[in-house]
Amino acid sequence: MTEDYLALSGIQHYCFCSRQWALIHLEQQWADNTRTYGGSQMHQRADDPYFTESRGDVRISRSLPLSSDRLRLRGVADVVEFHRCDEADGIRLEGETGFWKPVPIEYKYGQEKEDHSDLMQLTAQAICLEEMFKIDIPVGYLYYGKTRRRFKVEITAGLREEAFMLAAEMYQYLESGETPAAVLQKHCQNCSLQQLCVPKLSKKSRSISSYWKHMMEDEEDA
Ligand code: SF4
Repeated sequence: MTEDYLALSGIQHYCFCSRQWALIHLEQQWADNTRTYGGSQMHQRADDPYFTESRGDVRISRSLPLSSDRLRLRGVADVVEFHRCDEADGIRLEGETGFWKPVPIEYKYGQEKEDHSDLMQLTAQAICLEEMFKIDIPVGYLYYGKTRRRFKVEITAGLREEAFMLAAEMYQYLESGETPAAVLQKHCQNCSLQQLCVPKLSKKSRSISSYWKHMMEDEEDA
């Protein structure tokens, strides 16, 4: 049963800010800013389900559905490349000879970040692919549209441990129904939910809807 699983893309939001994740994924709040709009445009291009390519010993699959019973996450991979490899390292692909190694590629609109959020999304994708194909996925790639650079990422034990920890925390918030408190940080200035979050005011852990209800009650009492 995967329909109850949380969205895989949420692990990136959660790693950036647990409150942002809760506002988007638990409270269904969303606000586009330039970064997210550009990102969604880029994903629309990368998510074209009819677009497949072959480049030498690489086969490219787009919009591949992913899920992991261990992480309890599901989503869609922008791009998964299948690299021709030895039998011991690969899987068979329909209509192709030989063996192929799945390699997740995550496209980002902006540039490299200081936090682990993009790494977490890529790592979660790798864990999904490992479960789905019953194979080790030791590397993936992050591609940044602004700098047009592609980075090879080793999916280390440390990254895997962090992904499992964050996924478990996400479920703890889901089960408690609590939205984490705002913690005003430098990265808030890049957050598309800044207007909704009101980080200077929301020190207590409560949902955004209860915040607005509280504010309206205050106005009525005034
Ligand atoms: S404004 Fe800051 S605290 Fe609020 S959701 Fe965004 S990053 Fe998190």
